[in-house]
Amino acid sequence: MTGLDNLYREIIMEHYKNPRNKGLVENQDYRLFRIKNPSCGDDITIQTLVVDGIIKDCRHIGHGCSISMASASVLTELMIGKSVEEAEKIADNYLNMVANKEYDENIDLEEAEVFSGVRQFPARIKCASIAWVAFKDTLK
Ligand code: ZN
Repeated sequence: MTGLDNLYREIIMEHYKNPRNKGLVENQDYRLFRIKNPSCGDDITIQTLVVDGIIKDCRHIGHGCSISMASASVLTELMIGKSVEEAEKIADNYLNMVANKEYDENIDLEEAEVFSGVRQFPARIKCASIAWVAFKDTLK
């Protein structure tokens, strides 16, 4: 195991234990999308508030494995403040990265970069993806 792997694991566990932006709000202006991953029991709901093309808030709730929970937490932190256009680009890039497809390394994924390691574990790709797929659906 390399030092980078250790650092990535630490960041994932930190988000798993102390999730950011957790819990939904009662507000009809938010858009909501829920996805379940039966293969591992992940169940994630993402809630997004868009005002004038900017993501003003992004929340998550659910349960599942550490990768799915941590990736939801990282996602919400990364997306708040971004334009919808930017957010879609980042989400597509992230999804390509974890699926081991070609992706643009110049697009800054910030902490989400730590999930690049799941490329080596095809069974976990869905775990790292579902929050991001749900997020994209909240933008539609
Ligand atoms: Zn999972």
